[in-house]
Amino acid sequence: MPTAAPDPTKPVSDVLLIGAGIMSATLGVLLNKLDPSLSIQLFERLDTAAAESSDAWNNAGTGHSAFCELNYTPESPDGSIDISKADKIAEQFELSKQLWASLTADGTLPDPNQFIHSIPHMSFVWGSDNVEYLRKRHAALVQSPLFAGMEFSADPAQIAAWVPLVMQGRDPAQPVAATRMHLGTDVNFGSLTRALLGYLAAQPGATQHLGHEIEDFRHKDDGIWRVKVKDLASGESRIVRARFVFIGAGGGSLNLLEKTEIPEAQGFGGFPVSGQWLRCTNPAVAARHGAKVYGKAAVGSPPMSVPHLDTRQIEGRQELLFGPYAGFSTKFLKQGSYTDLFRSIELGNIRPLLYAGARNLGLTRYLIGQVLQSDEERMAALRDYYPGANPADWKLAVAGQRVQVIKKDKKEGGVLEFGTEVVTSADGSVAALLGASPGASTAVAIMVDLVQRCFPQQAQSAAWQAKFRELLPSFGQHLADNAALCRVVREHSHTVLGLAL
Ligand SMILES: Cc1cc2nc3c(=O)[nH]c(=O)nc-3n(C[C@H](O)[C@H](O)[C@H](O)COP(=O)(O)OP(=O)(O)OC[C@H]3O[C@@H](n4cnc5c(N)ncnc54)[C@H](O)[C@@H]3O)c2cc1C
Repeated sequence: MPTAAPDPTKPVSDVLLIGAGIMSATLGVLLNKLDPSLSIQLFERLDTAAAESSDAWNNAGTGHSAFCELNYTPESPDGSIDISKADKIAEQFELSKQLWASLTADGTLPDPNQFIHSIPHMSFVWGSDNVEYLRKRHAALVQSPLFAGMEFSADPAQIAAWVPLVMQGRDPAQPVAATRMHLGTDVNFGSLTRALLGYLAAQPGATQHLGHEIEDFRHKDDGIWRVKVKDLASGESRIVRARFVFIGAGGGSLNLLEKTEIPEAQGFGGFPVSGQWLRCTNPAVAARHGAKVYGKAAVGSPPMSVPHLDTRQIEGRQELLFGPYAGFSTKFLKQGSYTDLFRSIELGNIRPLLYAGARNLGLTRYLIGQVLQSDEERMAALRDYYPGANPADWKLAVAGQRVQVIKKDKKEGGVLEFGTEVVTSADGSVAALLGASPGASTAVAIMVDLVQRCFPQQAQSAAWQAKFRELLPSFGQHLADNAALCRVVREHSHTVLGLAL
């Protein structure tokens, strides 16, 4: 982050956050804890915080730990299971729980019950090949301390005891298998975001502006960003100044990043994938299911479209949700504009976009199939997981919008990525978060990394290092190869957050 002296007649914020989602909220609170004297301004175009992807009904609320998500444990050509990605994601979510526990213990977060609950995470498969894959996956994962305690069963009676809805009415001749991890969680990222921002708003030096849209940027030689902000109520625009800008605008980040005109933004494009759920409207049915049950993704589908039958805890009620069904819309935000995709196309990213499109025809075919699905076909997909589902108990709801990253690639011309990408300028004065997966669960790990990249000197200081260790007891260490540390930190965060052990 540059430290050039600003014009003393104009106020300059240390930090400007764009978007009131889980990413800006996490970064804002983290920076405030590291240095309470930092001045932080946040701007959000909507009239409420966490109303886009971070809202509980717009995402699946899975605390992604790779306990149940089969796409994080691919089978290698030699038949072995690669668990490196699973270890990484599980470790990242442990970091999230550590921060939330520290913020609960110091009173920053008033009540963990408002945003996190224990719920077993299960994988469920059918067919002999898939049963064999799951058996091998379980055997590989339990070698890592992060997955200790994971159960496996190919016994229909045992699986029925775990998840009766999944087994009732199923063909008894069908080979089935499941794994179950009782340490899984359901997270209401909307509640969590609002709690974090509630704390931040009360801090001296921090201000939040809802109903304000960021329109443009200029970076001058003095190292200060001039950011054009429109007050959507009055229609008036003004310039605010900041030393560091974080573009945490979710699907809106790509278009804003392009406007910064930093060289690092060149060649990025976005591919929007919308989503829908089936929401159970019968509380008696919802009460009979108590797990997040993830299956195998259909051929050609993007990894985040893995079907799952999910118990959710939202606003004090137990809910049941199935999906997501993918779709296509040219909007980059759920409350965005149909011109978003077209406005993101520029000379610098047209080649990667075309190449990525040509190389992902399977995905295109899958999305077209999803968009054209009838109600009966959606019910048929649900019945793979809940054979006795009654259409009268379910209604279709629109989920959040994701924008997958398309990146310039020397060899391939352009590649479609399904992870998240943090783009920072060479001087660290601006950072943007693109992409969507594994998403909110890994917000803490992403923001800790971002702080180290954009505030390198401060991050190395004894004071910030000590604070990192206080907030994140396993900071700088690996849990996957340290069973004792993994047990201790997990026990601590689960106890403070009131989660199963
Ligand atoms: C269907 C679906 C399922 C998901 N399931 C999971 C899951 O189970 N677990 C998980 O961990 N993650 C999941 N995710 C991903 C997760 O929801 C996102 O990674 C996360 O919410 C992104 O947070 P964010 O703060 O970056 O963006 P958002 O929450 O989208 O917030 C961005 C904010 O920026 C604002 N904004 C945009 N443009 C501007 C502008 N110009 N000026 C001012 N404000 C602006 C928007 O209005 C919005 O409020 C899922 C996502 C989807 C869509």
